[in-house]
This record gives sequence, C-alpha cells and structure tokens, in this order.
Amino acid sequence: MSDLRELYQEVILDHHKNPRNFRILEGANRTAEGYNPLCGDRITIYLQLQGDVITDISFQGVGCAISKASASMMTTRLKGKTRAEAEALFGKFHRVVTGQRDLAPDGPELGKLEVFAGVSEFPVRVKCASLAWHTLRAALDGGSQTVSTE
Ligand code: ZN
Repeated sequence: MSDLRELYQEVILDHHKNPRNFRILEGANRTAEGYNPLCGDRITIYLQLQGDVITDISFQGVGCAISKASASMMTTRLKGKTRAEAEALFGKFHRVVTGQRDLAPDGPELGKLEVFAGVSEFPVRVKCASLAWHTLRAALDGGSQTVSTE
C-alpha cells in the first residue's frame, strides 16, 4: 500500500510541476473561473466546444498540488469527449473523492484519476480535487460567474 501511495504522490507531483494544457486557449468559446476559499485555489478553464464535443481544453491558475494536478489530468482526459462523457466521468470522480464509490460503482473507468481516491478522508482536499470539475461544469453550462466550492 505504501508503494502505491508513493506512486500516487509521484503522479500528482509530476502533474503539479509539469501541468498539461496549462495555457490560455486561443479560440476558446467557453470559459469559467473557480475558487476554493478554503485553500486559496483559483482556476480558469478554457473550452472549445463544437456542438456537443470538447474539441480542446486548457486551464490556468494558482493553487495547491492537488488542485493543479486534478485540473491537469482532467484536461488530458476530456479532449475529444462529449458533454455526456464529461458529466459521467465527473459523476464517477465525485463519488470516488467523496468516498461514495460503493453507492454507484458503475460508470467510466477513472484510470489515473484514481490517484485522488485518497483525498476522501480529507474534506478540504476533496474541494481541491473537485474544483477543476465544478469549474468545467460551469464552463459547459455557459455561465460567466465565478464558481466557489463554498
Ligand atoms: Zn487546494
């Protein structure tokens, strides 16, 4: 288990140090900002949405390793996915990070996003891990207000 935990930390630190898709997306037609006051994480999600498909996605922001790694991994998973696929992944991710996986074990495989399962024991960290996803949903919904985890 400790080996696994170390591996998880490595994955998170890697994405924190070298975040993927960390840029302003030229030609984005949806953006949203998210804020987690408990930790101070701030994030902006940029989307290029064509019809129902996320053709490109990026993010910018400042925050802790967990919030940044979560956003980075989310962007790598969602490029080319439909809104419905993104929602399904968010639903599964949310159940896992809040420790409710057993309530509805079905859904898409999380793959590397499983590294965030450990945050379920730490309510503040749950907000760090979910911030990017809540912000994504706001961007998909076309809202322009800042989403807060509070
Ligand atoms: Zn945080």
